[in-house]
Amino acid sequence: MSEAYDVVIIGAGHNGLVCAAYLLKAGYRVLLLEKREIPGGAATTEETMPQEAPGFKFNRCAIDHEFIHLGPVVQELELEKYGLEYLFCDQVVFCPHPDGKYFYGHRSLDKTVAEIERFSPRDAQKYREFTEYWQRAIGAMIPMFNAPPKSIIDIAGNYDIAKIKDLFSVIGSPSKTLDFVRNMLTSAEDIMNEWFDEEFLKAPLARLASELGAPPSQKQLGIGAIMMAMRHDPGMARPKGGTGALVDALVKLVRSLGGVILTDQSVEKILVDDGKAVGVRVRGGTEYRATEGVISNIDARRLFLQMLEADEIAAVDADLRERLDRRIVNNNETILKIDLALSEPLKFVNHEHRDEYLIGSVLIADSVHQVEQAHHKPAIGEIPDDDPSMYLVVPTMRDPSMAPPGCHTAWIEFFAPYNIRGREGTGLNGTGWTDELKNQVADRVIDKIAEYAPNVKSATIARGVESPAELGERLGAYNGNYYHIDMTLDQMVFFRPLPELANYKTPIENLYLTGAGTHPGGSISGMPGRNCARVFLSAHQPLNRTIAKAGQSVKDLARSVFGASSKDRSHS
Ligand SMILES: Cc1cc2nc3c(=O)[nH]c(=O)nc-3n(C[C@H](O)[C@H](O)[C@H](O)COP(=O)(O)OP(=O)(O)OC[C@H]3O[C@@H](n4cnc5c(N)ncnc54)[C@H](O)[C@@H]3O)c2cc1C
Repeated sequence: MSEAYDVVIIGAGHNGLVCAAYLLKAGYRVLLLEKREIPGGAATTEETMPQEAPGFKFNRCAIDHEFIHLGPVVQELELEKYGLEYLFCDQVVFCPHPDGKYFYGHRSLDKTVAEIERFSPRDAQKYREFTEYWQRAIGAMIPMFNAPPKSIIDIAGNYDIAKIKDLFSVIGSPSKTLDFVRNMLTSAEDIMNEWFDEEFLKAPLARLASELGAPPSQKQLGIGAIMMAMRHDPGMARPKGGTGALVDALVKLVRSLGGVILTDQSVEKILVDDGKAVGVRVRGGTEYRATEGVISNIDARRLFLQMLEADEIAAVDADLRERLDRRIVNNNETILKIDLALSEPLKFVNHEHRDEYLIGSVLIADSVHQVEQAHHKPAIGEIPDDDPSMYLVVPTMRDPSMAPPGCHTAWIEFFAPYNIRGREGTGLNGTGWTDELKNQVADRVIDKIAEYAPNVKSATIARGVESPAELGERLGAYNGNYYHIDMTLDQMVFFRPLPELANYKTPIENLYLTGAGTHPGGSISGMPGRNCARVFLSAHQPLNRTIAKAGQSVKDLARSVFGASSKDRSHS
């Protein structure tokens, strides 16, 4: 038995750290327990090949940050004071097309429209309208992202005049509302076909939309259209030094507030006493007591099915165990990750190469059909490597500090199945993945890059490949799902992860959920961490403060509607 804390957080992913920071600021004593040797989860930057490629730093998972700029976490926590510096990208996407055309997206909408106009004046005009519509849709949704889904008062308090205008512009009449609902119900592919003619434009937009983790044809994922709109406003940025610099800043903040982060601590059991979470036990048997709450940065399914006894769950909800086991959906899609240490930047020689192409994300998306295969095949256990589509970044082009002088790195994300059909029971954790297979797949991915940038092979100094099974093991994520659970509409907002768990609370008293498996979902946003902290704090604060806060929210809303207007659409 060790020292008691007010709150114990399981997992020091960026959401666990954000949540900890808010609780520490409110005066709670917080302990974070992280299973890996370093904090950060899917947001680390590491020197993974110190022998073959010393001085090359790799973002092992997340690289491009957009969602975090739709919320107030960076400003509220004053992360710049703790060393965080965001480098925004002026060039955000480059996607070469096999016929010599290319999509070259800039942060500036005007510049992007001018690029499209070179190949299609009609699609250029449509692209402007498309982007403006989805940016208003984002403005209308931001207040919901930045509040617990069932906290109507919090959501209302987040609307200022600009966001109310955005809301009315997308749902301000019955036909606009129905159109918006239909956009949510339809697929990214249908939306691209409705707006655009040209494949060189549709394919990269479909690829970005599918970053939500499903094929472009999947109904109810039309919201994927926001993925490109966000790159214009609020923009796409990367922390200087890599995504891990966000984690470093959070760690410094947490420690400066007296928070404790213990690594190499794999939580195995939630300690429950009389229906109430009172602490955790880690591998090796050490127990950590929490007087006010236990918060999980890992998904609800793993939390309940692996860390609680069946009778402890049944005592609070007879159906919950089975619902968590059978109702939450994971479609088997995850990522095979390739890191390259390069002696020179990639050269897209067939597409009027400019080094600036490499500042944003390079998408290999030859057609919507190819993107469809990239996501459809993993869902049925097949590896889509006969014609690989991928997301590729050369982060050193924007941030040379991540490699030795003159050298570069490449970050390659290739969607792949977690469990491979026909290889069940073999390889790592019975998934079918072996070292030989992951390298064979990586070779095919590199061959595909070489069709566009032939110098990729001669420029490679060293290569690291992580299979889906290895990724899943490193993150401790169910089926290697980097969003913890799928991001389909039926598992979002009030349904994430299940309706009865959707407001960060659980039926076990003092046991809370945060992280990618809670609203508003995966990616680098810090929103689940902040929202969970708000729910925790309002559950622990006296009723009179809750009433005062509700009154303040109503006043804020009234002021924003009838008083001063705000041009800032990015924050709640
Ligand atoms: C290859 C890849 C690329 C990505 N690219 C992007 C991108 O460019 N942009 C973007 O926005 N998002 C991206 N994502 C998604 C994003 O990284 C994640 O959704 C996000 O980091 C999740 O953060 P989290 O804090 O909720 O959870 P996690 O980062 O998963 O944190 C959970 C933490 O819990 C720890 N843990 C697990 N089990 C235990 C246990 N038993 N005991 C103690 N600790 C435990 C884990 O080690 C981890 O530190 C990417 C993900 C991957 C895998």
